[in-house]
Amino acid sequence: MNYQKQSHLSAKHAGIYIHIPFCIKKCPYCDFYSISELSLKEPFILALLKEIELRSDTDLVVDTIYFGGGTPSLLTSEELEKILSAVAKNFKLASSKSLADKVSENLQITFEVNPGSLNPNKIKDGSLSRYNYLKEIKKIGVNRLSIGVQSFDNNKLNFLKRVHSSDDAQKTILSARDAGFDDIGFDLIYGLPDERQNLWLNDLNSALEYSPEHLSCYMLSYEPETPMFRAYKRGYITPLDDESVASLFRLTSKYLTANSFCHYEVSNFASSYEHQSKHNKKYWQMVKYLGFGPSAHSYNGQSERFWNIKSVEKYILMVNQGRLPIAEKEILTDNQRLIEYTMVGLRTEKGVELKYFKGLKGLNSVIDEIKQRAWGEEEECPTDGDRLRLTPDGWLFLDTITRWFVDLIEK
Ligand code: SF4
Repeated sequence: MNYQKQSHLSAKHAGIYIHIPFCIKKCPYCDFYSISELSLKEPFILALLKEIELRSDTDLVVDTIYFGGGTPSLLTSEELEKILSAVAKNFKLASSKSLADKVSENLQITFEVNPGSLNPNKIKDGSLSRYNYLKEIKKIGVNRLSIGVQSFDNNKLNFLKRVHSSDDAQKTILSARDAGFDDIGFDLIYGLPDERQNLWLNDLNSALEYSPEHLSCYMLSYEPETPMFRAYKRGYITPLDDESVASLFRLTSKYLTANSFCHYEVSNFASSYEHQSKHNKKYWQMVKYLGFGPSAHSYNGQSERFWNIKSVEKYILMVNQGRLPIAEKEILTDNQRLIEYTMVGLRTEKGVELKYFKGLKGLNSVIDEIKQRAWGEEEECPTDGDRLRLTPDGWLFLDTITRWFVDLIEK
């Protein structure tokens, strides 16, 4: 089986992820790496610029840049400009225009915005409005915003211990539109203890009032080593039961598709194909991406991947010594790559190409089982060959289905 053929994008194209590892306050459910020691921001940015330089490859065409975290909106517009300039200097941007004029449909630059930690200048001295901050980052080149709304309900936001209110989120959305952003997504969370359908529907309706181009709807999960996980283990929190969470998931899919959104990945919905996350699709299609900053992951689109050290202090130290801040490197075997392909492919509306599983003993009975349970369907595709794609009901059993495939691959 030549699994290598599955990557049809040029090896000279890549996405860049930049991890900004700072948050004003840690949310109790979050397991992304970030710290609240903002005094390290300045040395971190110098180190980040250096890491970008150390990994320079001016032949590599970058067509997506994603600022995630942590809280990218803690960056000043000057800091953001320095980072983007370093990327432009050390890689080839997929744009024929100059850096100052690089808002181009060929280059998607996404910036995560926290409605409560936006505009650090304002936090400092109250001199800059949300609108001006967003206008500035748009001018620098950001052409897509991912706003961490989470909910429009203040009780939900309080439970999640977010630093922002529903009002902050709404003002941020309106400022973003005023600043000229026409590609805006919201992150929303559902499945809180006792959350009923009507409460979640209110959230969805509030979101739709602002006509977002993209919605990421995540089920609240209790990640090990988070304060929320500990509270659950100690009995202070009773998670919503599985059946209620499943019905909220089904409701989300039905409601948003009825409102013209495309459910293109388990948790992601877009108002049109152009508004899907070009960057996140690189992860699901297993194409090349480079991650910069502490804890960021990189993948060469073939068999090698590595991830950076999960410590701002060590990251700064290593980069300042001229060393790549790599924590670990992994070479994937063909089987491991096929398993990864299954895991990420089945998450998406396109599913997986069945030709990569050809010859696996028991494949037909797994496919029949999936079809019988209405968890997925086989689709004939004249160009790529037959595919298996899961239905939203199948997505609810993604772990089980993936396990079936893993068993076939490892047999
Ligand atoms: S603001 Fe975002 S990254 Fe920071 S702790 Fe909260 S959820 Fe995590």
